[in-house]
Amino acid sequence: MIKNPMADEMRRFKGTDEKNPFEAMSERFDRAAQLLGLDPDLYAVMRVPSREIKVYIPVRMDSGHIEVFEGFRVQHNFARGPAKGGIRYAPDVTLDEVKALSAWMTWKCAVVNVPFGGGKGGIICNPHQMSIGELERLTRRYTAELIDFIGPDKDVPAPDMNTNEQTMAWIMDTYSMHARHTVTAVVTGKPVPIGGSLGRREATGRGLMFTVNEAIKRFNLTPEQTSVVVQGSGNVGGLGASLMHEYGYKITAISDINGGIYNKNGLDIPEVLSYLQMNKTLEGYKEADTVSNSEILELECDVLAPCATENQITSENAERLNCKILAEGANGPTTPKADQILHDKGVFVIPDILANAGGVTVSYFEWVQDRMGYFWSEDVVNQRLEEKMVASFNELSHFAQLHNVDSRTAAYMLAIDRVAYDTRMRGIYA
Ligand code: NAD
Repeated sequence: MIKNPMADEMRRFKGTDEKNPFEAMSERFDRAAQLLGLDPDLYAVMRVPSREIKVYIPVRMDSGHIEVFEGFRVQHNFARGPAKGGIRYAPDVTLDEVKALSAWMTWKCAVVNVPFGGGKGGIICNPHQMSIGELERLTRRYTAELIDFIGPDKDVPAPDMNTNEQTMAWIMDTYSMHARHTVTAVVTGKPVPIGGSLGRREATGRGLMFTVNEAIKRFNLTPEQTSVVVQGSGNVGGLGASLMHEYGYKITAISDINGGIYNKNGLDIPEVLSYLQMNKTLEGYKEADTVSNSEILELECDVLAPCATENQITSENAERLNCKILAEGANGPTTPKADQILHDKGVFVIPDILANAGGVTVSYFEWVQDRMGYFWSEDVVNQRLEEKMVASFNELSHFAQLHNVDSRTAAYMLAIDRVAYDTRMRGIYA
C-alpha cells in the first residue's frame, strides 16, 4: 500500500462525483500507481499539476463595451519535455476539466513516447456567439497573459474543441510580435503555409483508425466486416469517420451535438459530411433514420467511437452498450464506474490516451519540422504516424498481458512508469 500524503484530500472527493473529470483521472492514476508500487515521493509529485494559471481576459466587444473572460492554462508535468496540449473554448469549461485534460496529455505523450509533458488550456466563452474579431482579440489577449509561460521549450498549445488553425495562427503571431521574430514552434495545428504539418488536421482521426485496425484483428474482423458508430462529427469524429469509410469500414451512424443519423447498411460519409456542412445539421438527411445522442451510443455495432466530449458512457448507460470495441476518440468519454461495467461485459477498450494520440503525435512531428525548418511530405507524416500508433498499440497489449490488467489500466501504468523513470533520473528539486 502506498503511503499517500494526500490521503485525506483523496478521501474527501473520491467517488463523490462520477462526472468530475479530474476525479476520474485521479482514480485511475491511483489504481495504476498502486499496481506499480509507485514510490510515495514520486506519487505525491506526479499526482498534481506543476502549475495552474488563471487569467482574466478583457476583450473589447464589437458593441464597444469591455467584457472580461476567465481563462486557464494548466501545466501538469514537464519531466519528459515541454508541456503540450490543446486550448478549448466553451461556456462550461472548468478548471477541474482543464486539470484532467492536462494530466491526460502527460500520460498520452508518455504512452506514444513523444518527448513532451502535459498541458491544457480553456476559456469560458461561447465562441458561437462571438464575431471573428472578438475571437481574435480574445485569443491575442489570452496569449499575451500567458506570454512568460508558453514557448517552444516551455509549453506548446494546440487546437481543441472550438479552436482551430486560425486560433493557432493568432497565437503564433501574438507570441512572435512579443519575441520580435517569428516563432512557429510555439503552437501546433497551424495552417500548413505558416509552419503547420501536412496531415495534422486528419491526424487524430487517422490515428484512431490505425488503433481500430489493430483491435479488430483480435476479433478476426476485416474493415469490410466491421460496423462502426461514431459520436461527434468534428475534427476527430468527422475526419475519423471519413478515413474509416474510405478504408472500407461500414459507418452505420454518426452524430453532432443535436443528435445523429443511422442506416444499418452503412452511410455515405462524404455525402453526410457535405450535407452537414451545407445545412449545419444532420436532421433531414434522407438516407437514414434519426437517433438521439443517447440512442446512438446504444446501437448494435462492432466498434463504438465516442468522438465528442467527456462523460458520455457512465454507470447509467454502460450496461446498454452494444459494441465489441470501444475506441475512445474523445478525451474522457467513459467514467471509471462505467469501466468496470464494460470490463464485465467483455468490451475491449482502446483507451483515449492511446486512441486519440495521433493528434499529439503529428503535433510532435510539426514541432520537429518547425525547429528543423524542413518539412516532410504527407506520405512521410502518415507513415511515421502509423508506425507510432501500431507500435504503441502493441506495446500496450504486451504490457496488459504481462501485468494481467485491462487496456486502460495498462495504458496508465505504462505512462506512469515512463514519467516516474524520468522523474527519478532527473531527481526531485525539493
Ligand atoms: P470538434 O469541436 O471539432 O467536434 C466536436 C463534435 O462533438 C461536434 O460534432 C459536436 O457537435 C459534437 N459534440 C459536442 N458536444 C457534444 C455533446 N455534449 N454531445 C454530443 N455531441 C457533442 O472537436 P474535436 O477536435 O473533434 O474534439 C472532440 C474530442 O476529441 C474532444 O474530447 C477532444 O478533447 C478530443 N481530442 C481532439 C483532438 C484533436 O486533434 N482535435 C485530439 C485528441 C483528442
